[in-house]
Amino acid sequence: MPVKQTLADLVAIDSVSQRTNAAIIEYLEQRCRKLGLQTRRLAYLDEFGVEKNNLVALTKLAGEPPEAALALVGHTDTVPYDPAWTEATTLTEKDGQLYGRGACDTKAFIAAMLTAVEESDLNSLKQPLALVFTADEELGLFGAKRLAAANALRIQHAIVGEPTSLRPMRAGKGYCLAEVIVRGREAHSAYPAFGASAISRAAHLLTTFEELAERLKEETHADFDPPYTTFNVGLIRGGTAKNVIPGECRFTIEWRPVPGQDPRRVLELLSDAINVERRRDADFQGEIEAGRTDTGFETAPDSGLVRLIESLTGNASGTVAFGTEAPQMIELGAEAVVLGPGDIRVAHRTGEFVPVAELQQCVEILRQAIGHYCH
Ligand SMILES: [Zn+2]
Repeated sequence: MPVKQTLADLVAIDSVSQRTNAAIIEYLEQRCRKLGLQTRRLAYLDEFGVEKNNLVALTKLAGEPPEAALALVGHTDTVPYDPAWTEATTLTEKDGQLYGRGACDTKAFIAAMLTAVEESDLNSLKQPLALVFTADEELGLFGAKRLAAANALRIQHAIVGEPTSLRPMRAGKGYCLAEVIVRGREAHSAYPAFGASAISRAAHLLTTFEELAERLKEETHADFDPPYTTFNVGLIRGGTAKNVIPGECRFTIEWRPVPGQDPRRVLELLSDAINVERRRDADFQGEIEAGRTDTGFETAPDSGLVRLIESLTGNASGTVAFGTEAPQMIELGAEAVVLGPGDIRVAHRTGEFVPVAELQQCVEILRQAIGHYCH
């Protein structure tokens, strides 16, 4: 089947993360079985009780857990789309570009994976090849984390699909979240002596956090732009009315640690900052709830995989500041790079697209990578 038709089929199956991905997994499983691959589904219920599936397809089931010399990895879920985008699930070609939700992120890579396998002579492969399809990447890499926790397979080399304009990305920052809750004491605002403002306390704490963010800039990783762990307070809410001294203030902190830095280190620094406030103000009440602490990843620039993909694409390797499933593949034993057709800057947008030429080039790159690692 032509790669464009496969992409059209995939885009036609709505697989927004909030829904079950059963339909797209069913399609992929059928396609893999037709190719003669052995498939394994790993189903789970997400936090809302919705069925989600990871799918692993292998040319041969060798070992338990099975081992693969090469794994091609694509996430099946997409971000939601605006209902006004009436062609979101109809792949539409215009001026050499294919439009549709997921066309860029990351169904184009999945279409290229299937086509590359179709165009390979699987009978002549000596080393096992795995196709890995995951759920809930966009919500927090939940599918890939489950695969890693279950040790569902072992992988020597992984190519993780994400739109990189076919540039191999050999390192990525991590992704972390924490919620900070600062408490005060509510009172009538006409009588401040009876209360303590949670917002004022939070403001003071935020100043300390800003200093911490400045200090993090000193721990540099030259291959990234910006070359340090970034820090953002993206949400804040506090207080109930203009004439009430606020009893509570909450804010959400996000940081993206450079690889090599333990994601929990920033968490410790935040805790230290709260302790400093406690020493300064005996009445201070604040706590941190850790959310995600996803680590970054880095594959050596002179690794065989990086060199191979550089030579197949003609593009020098780079780094990404967004989260990917590469760290989970590394947990499964892999050397990993992130690669895919399409530009991350158009991903998640209404009207996301993939250039036809990149889609077709990706098929050829993956076919050659299969030949390299599995023959
Ligand atoms: Zn993606």
